[in-house]
Amino acid sequence: MKQPSNAASFAEKLLKWFDQYGRHDLPWQENKTAYRVWVSEIMLQQTQVKTVIPYYQKFMQRFPTLQDLANAEQDEVLSHWAGLGYYARGRNLHKAAQVIQAQHKGEFPQTLDEMVALPGIGRSTAGAILSIAHGKRYAILDGNVKRVLARYYAIERWPGEKAVETDLWLKAEALTPSARFGDYTQAMMDLGATLCTRSKPLCNGCPLKDGCAAFAQQMVADLPVRKPKKDKPAKEAFLLVLRDDANHLWLEQRPQNGIWGGLWAFPQLHNWQECEEIAQSKLGRGASLLKWETFRHTFSHYHLDITPVYCEASRKSDVEEAQPDYAAADLNESGLWIELQALQEGRYGLPAPVQTLLEQLQAY
Ligand code: SF4
Repeated sequence: MKQPSNAASFAEKLLKWFDQYGRHDLPWQENKTAYRVWVSEIMLQQTQVKTVIPYYQKFMQRFPTLQDLANAEQDEVLSHWAGLGYYARGRNLHKAAQVIQAQHKGEFPQTLDEMVALPGIGRSTAGAILSIAHGKRYAILDGNVKRVLARYYAIERWPGEKAVETDLWLKAEALTPSARFGDYTQAMMDLGATLCTRSKPLCNGCPLKDGCAAFAQQMVADLPVRKPKKDKPAKEAFLLVLRDDANHLWLEQRPQNGIWGGLWAFPQLHNWQECEEIAQSKLGRGASLLKWETFRHTFSHYHLDITPVYCEASRKSDVEEAQPDYAAADLNESGLWIELQALQEGRYGLPAPVQTLLEQLQAY
């Protein structure tokens, strides 16, 4: 695509600013291999840099190479993801490492088409890896860049609309300079994260101020246009916290698809009666249930109002009397009695509400 007349000065001003004020000491900026850049890009989706840094360092310590990640158990990968949220990112990262190991002889692919064929890698992430790790001329269009461009060109439509996104990609590609591709990518991300922020952007220090249409038209606070609002529905669920007299908790591994896929969680049930039935089958007839205070957990598409139900009892004697086939139930593939300590040590991938409940359990 032909470069617009302002492309050279856009990139020049941005890179000059980046050399002086950009971030040059982030952990993934050392030893910029495709693997290291990829992990950082996936962690940075929906999560801020300062939150990502300690997770990234711990992750790299445990999985320093793509092979280490591919060979690990999913549980261990997800336990390193616990707290970052959006667990599909962690599952896809692991899956993609295994695909690269199996189909690309362990070498990270170097073309856009091969990259976007991997689980969890979209065009922008592939562009970031290609430009930063391989020094190739590819654009990115993550949330930060969308915001910068929507303001720079004063685009008065929601950037998530297909036609607007297509236009933004064309603009992003046209503005990409003919050299220093990795630095340019990093500079765009830095500008969006440090100056052209969602609220209170620091336009007076911005190298692009002179050409910025939103700044000239005093529209910065109104752009980018927000996604048209839909009210999130609220759903309700019970989480049944079963604890035996030896400090084991009953957890079930969630199916890979769906919320908390692959993570370990307390049984999620619809009503009190179901809680009583499961508690009885696992802990015997004498087990009494206690309702804890309801709290809300919000997913991207809905709220979940969770009522924890706690039940503690000795499993052996009661259950053997009450339910002779208890041992078989215990071998249920999706559920396990797990020591509280093992859960606290982070040996299992747990969703945030389960971690919250474990903290409450300390008080018991
Ligand atoms: S002048 Fe302000 S709105 Fe425009 S790109 Fe710079 S920081 Fe963003």
